[in-house]
Amino acid sequence: MKEYNPMELFDLTKDTLHYKSQNSVYNIKYNADDAHALLNTEHGTPFLHFEALDAIPCIRHGFSTRLGGVSTGDFTTLNLSFARGDDEEAVHQNYERILKSMDMKENRLAFSDQVHDTIIHRVTLEDTYASHQYEKKLVGIDGLITNEKNVTLVTSYADCVPLYFVDPVKKAIGLSHSGWKGTVGKIGKKTVEAMVREFGSEKEDIICVIGPSICFDCYEISKDVADEFMVNFTNEITSKILYDKGNGKYQLDLWLTNKYILMEAGIPEENITNSNLCTCCNHTLLFSHRASQGKRGNLAAFLSLAE
Ligand SMILES: [Zn+2]
Repeated sequence: MKEYNPMELFDLTKDTLHYKSQNSVYNIKYNADDAHALLNTEHGTPFLHFEALDAIPCIRHGFSTRLGGVSTGDFTTLNLSFARGDDEEAVHQNYERILKSMDMKENRLAFSDQVHDTIIHRVTLEDTYASHQYEKKLVGIDGLITNEKNVTLVTSYADCVPLYFVDPVKKAIGLSHSGWKGTVGKIGKKTVEAMVREFGSEKEDIICVIGPSICFDCYEISKDVADEFMVNFTNEITSKILYDKGNGKYQLDLWLTNKYILMEAGIPEENITNSNLCTCCNHTLLFSHRASQGKRGNLAAFLSLAE
C-alpha cells in the first residue's frame, strides 16, 4: 500500500477504487455476486452509494468521501467532525455540500455521539435539528433507528464499520456504528431486535449493507482484542474471522464478523451486502484512522426515509 500523505487525493479522472471481494486467508467471498459500493460524481460533491439500497424507492442514502470539501491539512478536504480540531465554518460548509449532493438538504438531521457501546435509540422529531445545526448529538448512542420521514440519520467513521438497515415493508430504517467493541457487543443484532420491537419489522424484510471500513488485511489487532472475539463467538466463526500470526498479533475480519452477526439475528444471507471497500486500502479517497495514524477527519454515513 502507498504511504499516507494527507495532501494526496484520489483523482477522479484516472484512479480506480480497490475492492476486496473475499477474506484473503480463508477465501470466503463476502457477496454472492459482485455487489459493492459505487462512487457517484454527478451531483457536485462525490459520495458512495450501494446498489442494494439504490433499488429501494422509499429511501435516500450515501457515504461521504474525502473529496469535494473545503477543509485543509490533515482534514483535506471533506471532514465531517466538529470535534477533531478543524475549522468550524469549514465543517459547516462540508455538510452543506454533501447534503446538497445527496439531495438531503431539506431533511431534519439526527446525529449519534458514538462511544463504542451498543445502545440503540429510536429517533423522533424531538431528536432532530434543522440542517444548519450539525453539532448537536444524541449523547452515548451508537445506533439510530426511525420511521420518521425526511429525517436523516448520521453516524461518523474512519475505519469502523457502518451498518445500514432498511425495512421497505414497514418503512423503517437504522444506522449503526460497529467498531471492534460494537462488533463484540453485536450492535448489528441489537439494531435488528430494536427494529422488530419498535416497528414490527419482519427479519426477512430487512435489507442490510456493511459499509466502507477497514478490511481483514489492514486490521491487525493484539491478543487481548482477539481474546474478546474468542470468548463471544463460536470456534466455527473465530476460525474464519481471526488469523493468528504467531507473534501475539492477529488479523481480524470485521466485515465477515458483522455478516455472521446479522445472519445470527435472523437476516437472510441474500439480504446482506458487503460494500467490499476498505477505508485504509483507499486512503486517498476515504479517511482512515490506521492509515493516517490518527491524523484525520471523519467520514459520515447518511440514511433517510423519503415520502
Ligand atoms: Zn484494506
